[in-house]
Amino acid sequence: MEALKKFDGAYWRSLFDSRVGKTTWPYGSGVWSKKEWVLPEIDPDDIVSAFEGNSNLFWAERFGKQFLGMNDFWVKHCGISHTGSFKDLGMTVLVSQVNRLRKLKRPVFGVGCASTGDTSAALSAYCAAAGIPSIVFLPANKISTAQLVQPISNGALVLSIDTDFDGCMKLIREVTSELPIYLANSLNSLRLEGQKTAAIEILQQFDWEVPDWVIVPGGNLGNIYAFYKGFKMCQELGLVNRIPRLVCAQAANANPLYLYYKSGWKEFKPLKANTTFASAIQIGDPVSIDRAVFALRNSNGIVEEATEEELMDAMALADSTGMFICPHTGVALTALIKLRNSGVIGSDDRTVVVSTAHGLKFTQSKTDYHSGDIPGMGRFANPPVLVKADFGSVMDVLKDFLLSKKK
Ligand SMILES: *Cc1c(COP(=O)(O)O)cnc(C)c1O
Repeated sequence: MEALKKFDGAYWRSLFDSRVGKTTWPYGSGVWSKKEWVLPEIDPDDIVSAFEGNSNLFWAERFGKQFLGMNDFWVKHCGISHTGSFKDLGMTVLVSQVNRLRKLKRPVFGVGCASTGDTSAALSAYCAAAGIPSIVFLPANKISTAQLVQPISNGALVLSIDTDFDGCMKLIREVTSELPIYLANSLNSLRLEGQKTAAIEILQQFDWEVPDWVIVPGGNLGNIYAFYKGFKMCQELGLVNRIPRLVCAQAANANPLYLYYKSGWKEFKPLKANTTFASAIQIGDPVSIDRAVFALRNSNGIVEEATEEELMDAMALADSTGMFICPHTGVALTALIKLRNSGVIGSDDRTVVVSTAHGLKFTQSKTDYHSGDIPGMGRFANPPVLVKADFGSVMDVLKDFLLSKKK
């Protein structure tokens, strides 16, 4: 920070703005356009990038007006990215550094991670691009097919282990302490250095105006801290003069941070996470718990939770206004709906929900919801109508449809 402070906020703002939309290697990437703040000394030749970042900040006008009574509601679509989740932002940094270490002939044979799906997808893609072996530990039958097929396609060694994420995490930590395999989980701060650029990007997309609230779904809790760090650096280096209030949103089936918050930060108890449609945050013993508490306490933050029905309904509502979000984003939207209903978030507050993955990775749960295959769920289901292949039958359906729209 001392070195960065040699330049003022105006310098950094115009430097970052000057790189947007350019293809000059590696600054066209949303992460590496902030290289001086991320990993300053690395040689551009060592960087492994897929031009991640620069994701759409979507003005969710219809959802905001219709369901929240808000004018200034935005969704930061971090999942519109190389492997379909925000994990790319951190993985480009970590794999670049490993690439550099290997060129320096350090004994790094490969990179490994435990994952609820998206980390392994990002790790295997970036490693494959650089020709570095990758090894991923996945909980058997607990991730979506779309997530599983990514590391398989990218040539990773995939271990499907009969345990949950926390069990995989414990095993990979033991294995990497014995073997020359570099650990890629987010307790490694290189990941968070990349992920924090999404916060800087939000400020930049608002022309360096600070939103009032930013809501992030949290599991292992690295990302909520990364957002805090990105905002805080912008404040300390003079790019903006305040930071937003942060909200961390958890699934009620995997809510150790929520319970800790509700206890007034008195007692943290790891728990056994239950199954949730928000499978990437099905974590009971988050490694970045202390960092998350630090971030929330220093941003006047809040923790909320979402039941399975709430998160699936919120996702369906958002989709019906033109988005196609993942269940984790449904968790964050539920938090917003609750905080709007309780009046904590005001109708004029500029609010950003961070969308963490692309909805196309989670089509099975959406399909099940809309076909009414999930017991007790489907308030906003929109199942396809089966029709005989004749003119009369099709006309009958359409007449009913037009009549129902008229009402
Ligand atoms: C990893 C992930 C999260 C949670 O991020 P943490 O840093 O573990 O809290 C949320 N949503 C999706 C889609 C993810 O892949």
